[in-house]
Amino acid sequence: MSPDNELPESTDTVIVGAGVVGCSVAYHLAAVSDEDVTVVDMGEIDAPGGSTVHAPGGLVETSGSKVMSGFAQYSRELYTDLDAYRSDGLLEIATTEDRLQQAKRLYDYSQSWGVPGGELLTPEETRELVPLLNDEEILGSYYSPTSGLIRSVELLAAMREKAGRRGATFHGHTQVTDIDLDGSTVTAVETDRGRIETDRVLVATNVWAPLFGRMVGVNIPLMPCEHQYAITESLAELEGTENEVEYAGFRQQEASLYFRQHGEGYGIGSYNHEPLLLAPDDLSDYENAPEDIPVYDYFVGRESTRDPIKMTANREFTPEHFEAPMEDARRLMPALEDVGIEKAFNGVFSFTPDGMPILGPPDDVDGFWVATGVWLTHAGGVGKAMAEWMTTGYPRQNLVPCDVNRFQDHAGSPQFTYDRAAYSYDTVYDLVHPRQLPDVNQSLRTGPFYERQSDLGGEFAAAAGWERPRWYNSNASLLGEYDVADRSGWEARHWSPIEGAEHQAVRDRVGLFDLSGFTNIDVTGPEAAEFLQYLCTNDVDVAVGRATYTLMCSERGGILGDMTVLREADDQFQIFGNSGAAGTEQLAWIDDQAGGFDVHVTAPIAGRCAVGVWGHEARNLLDPLVPADLGNDEFPYFTAQDTYVREVPVTAIRVSYVGELGWELHTTTDYGRKLWDTLWEAGQEHGLVPMGDGALNTMRLEKGYPLYGGDITPEFDPYEANLGFTVDLDTEFVGREALIEARDNRERKRTLMTLDEPESVVFTGVPILTDDEVVSYAASAEYGHSVDSGIVSGYLPVEYTDPGTALEVQYENERYPVTVRESPLFDPDRGRLLR
Ligand SMILES: Cc1cc2nc3c(=O)[nH]c(=O)nc-3n(C[C@H](O)[C@H](O)[C@H](O)COP(=O)(O)OP(=O)(O)OC[C@H]3O[C@@H](n4cnc5c(N)ncnc54)[C@H](O)[C@@H]3O)c2cc1C
Repeated sequence: MSPDNELPESTDTVIVGAGVVGCSVAYHLAAVSDEDVTVVDMGEIDAPGGSTVHAPGGLVETSGSKVMSGFAQYSRELYTDLDAYRSDGLLEIATTEDRLQQAKRLYDYSQSWGVPGGELLTPEETRELVPLLNDEEILGSYYSPTSGLIRSVELLAAMREKAGRRGATFHGHTQVTDIDLDGSTVTAVETDRGRIETDRVLVATNVWAPLFGRMVGVNIPLMPCEHQYAITESLAELEGTENEVEYAGFRQQEASLYFRQHGEGYGIGSYNHEPLLLAPDDLSDYENAPEDIPVYDYFVGRESTRDPIKMTANREFTPEHFEAPMEDARRLMPALEDVGIEKAFNGVFSFTPDGMPILGPPDDVDGFWVATGVWLTHAGGVGKAMAEWMTTGYPRQNLVPCDVNRFQDHAGSPQFTYDRAAYSYDTVYDLVHPRQLPDVNQSLRTGPFYERQSDLGGEFAAAAGWERPRWYNSNASLLGEYDVADRSGWEARHWSPIEGAEHQAVRDRVGLFDLSGFTNIDVTGPEAAEFLQYLCTNDVDVAVGRATYTLMCSERGGILGDMTVLREADDQFQIFGNSGAAGTEQLAWIDDQAGGFDVHVTAPIAGRCAVGVWGHEARNLLDPLVPADLGNDEFPYFTAQDTYVREVPVTAIRVSYVGELGWELHTTTDYGRKLWDTLWEAGQEHGLVPMGDGALNTMRLEKGYPLYGGDITPEFDPYEANLGFTVDLDTEFVGREALIEARDNRERKRTLMTLDEPESVVFTGVPILTDDEVVSYAASAEYGHSVDSGIVSGYLPVEYTDPGTALEVQYENERYPVTVRESPLFDPDRGRLLR
């Protein structure tokens, strides 16, 4: 295989970028399909000069994110097989009490996600692994023995070689200048060495990716960011060392630092300075790029045997940004005291608005795929997922947090991308609480109720840009009426007991919930019913005025969304789906599936608003305001009617996500304020309470209702999720074949458990265990204020799903007994819903 061999005139897939991501996708694509795969890069193919060849190569397997940990674990196995990896281990050093607790949570995650061999170490045990650490600073650590170091240039060579043997070709010194479209379909890739016809291009160009988005009119919101790494001179304590690495790597995240050994010296990477972001246009071109040697196997105390190579993703090192980090490093490792820097380095890599990769086919252009914002650590797993996605459809993996279609329209704005990338950089090693949200770009999207909600002391948190109250401070007085189990520590942060009081008050009286940020999609046209039957697992071809709860699945049977489909006319339906990013991804999927049907799919979310009126008193509140008969027989559960709330036209749907009698009232935003005010005024005599997302979540959990993105994801099928009732195998729909198989082969089941200890609460993601074995993890966890106990929902192997089975969960390295329960925990005969 010659690196610069002749370009083909046409090929099945062009991959742009021969860094670790492009090579990994090519390697996996060549393994799973017979298609022609052509990889092009503007750099030298052996060492293309992007971020991949800059990295010191650290691979860390444990994280709070299951998908990221899964990518890292697969990468570690692959890179080991390809002989480009060494497991020297990695320590997460705790130098504060807060970080010590975090180390315990990392240990919990390692158990949940199956990271091998994770341990919590004492200061003494930590120093046994790295004797140069200052014992006065260390409180303990989390240790992952299989984390380690990647040799990137060797890794690229091994992937190219294996992919090449299966027919993939690689072409260096080939700069892509444009992508040709026919309408919105890719037809060819233009390069400075000729044109390649193709109907599929995958952009794996890292910091250059936004430029490719521009070529086809797609927004790829990421920012190139400078990142400094310095290797010290020889430490007296390491003089004469034989091995490049003898001690485990470590991170002191409190100080935003990571460390690895380089022979007699130490490499130190720092995130401890202001974000140094660049525009993608300001990056160096290949010809003018400086030359340097890759640092991942740099050995202080020996001559480098490597030749310098061009480094395109490179900037000048700025010593002023390394002074404070060096001080911190010396405090942790006193042996660095009188040691200077031998080699300083400033590479550029990507930061995305939410710190996650950007993967998949953007909705707007057929044949255009993206895999960017990916670290070396995750590239093996990402390559596998992308190859599966490109050849056999959406993988049975939860790629929802990485999906290119998760971004809202405002993510196209340079200001938003800049602010969020800077925030991602600033918090990259921070202790970020699961409920903590960025403190930038606030108040972006507000509905017609916002002013009223602010007046009521709404404690807002943005979801997909929408300001949504978590709770209302005006409800503080409810705490005199309702007991709410107190919390301390991590689980008390970004939380208020008011959430628990709102929960109980809604069950007793009636609540008003803002549904405006939830996805609302119109499907109209002569083939609307036919299309939705094809899209949905349930039979949605029902009488006008009826609503159906359904799922949509991938070809492999993984759940891609749950939603309510309302038939408004023979050829007119509305889909009420999930909120936030999931809603945007689902719209993209629905749009994509609609090709070939005579239908219109539109999402007029911004023009619509809605409230939920739920609770014991819902009918009494609405009866005098609504001309429609709200009786149980006249307005049955899961039906809808066009009616009015006084003079406001609404579509009223009798559904509720909290398990109470009630209606969703949908209207247009111009009527929104009047709708709120009318309900608010009339609601006073019924004890109406505004309720936030916190109460919604705890109420739906004790009812066993799943939350998309946690309880149900593409990783699970409807039968495992205990949602078999939404599958009608008498209809033909996407994923039916896979579900026929899944129905008879269920090995795990979504199950509810309660914590045995009163008033205890744990978090999503904690491991579920028998005495000596991890059997699952918490897909959702919170407190059920009506059942008065902590609740965990998780996918258990079927042998553990009998009610009464005793198991445990582990939170901050402490075990809590749990008991498997019949689902739902609250109102199992649905008496409250159907009254
Ligand atoms: C200093 C530093 C330290 C890091 N440390 C670590 C670490 O310890 N662990 C870790 O996991 N990650 C680390 N990273 C991040 C990691 O290196 C990157 O995220 C990863 O290598 C990105 O891989 P990639 O294949 O997407 O991009 P790249 O390797 O940048 O490849 C993109 C390729 O696209 C090509 N290209 C661009 N435009 C064109 C065009 N028009 N035509 C043709 N080709 C084009 C480029 O030539 C380049 O080769 C570090 C990064 C830096 C900068």
